[in-house]
Amino acid sequence: MKPNLRKVKRQVILHQDGTPYVPQYPGGINTLKCTGCGECAEICPQGCIEIQEVDGRNVAVLTKLELCIGDGFCKIVCPEDAFL
Ligand code: SF4
Ligand code: SF4
Repeated sequence: MKPNLRKVKRQVILHQDGTPYVPQYPGGINTLKCTGCGECAEICPQGCIEIQEVDGRNVAVLTKLELCIGDGFCKIVCPEDAFL
């Protein structure tokens, strides 16, 4: 039996407490705040982030954002609150 696509599209993933799961995709990185510590690149399960030298400073760069699954780990670990 074919799945009812309209019904499937309406389904929402819920946390255990019943609140809806909302993906936390990074909107960018504030390179003025970023210290290049590498925490975000290390924790990203998808390898979306690299530390690169930009204008003589090491900063995080979202190099493969198309692979991002929106888990938000990068935002959570950043000690500088550099993610937009
Ligand atoms: S949200 Fe998750 S998958 Fe996406 S860049 Fe951040 S750590 Fe990587
Ligand atoms: S965790 Fe924050 S400060 Fe560290 S490299 Fe990533 S964006 Fe920069």
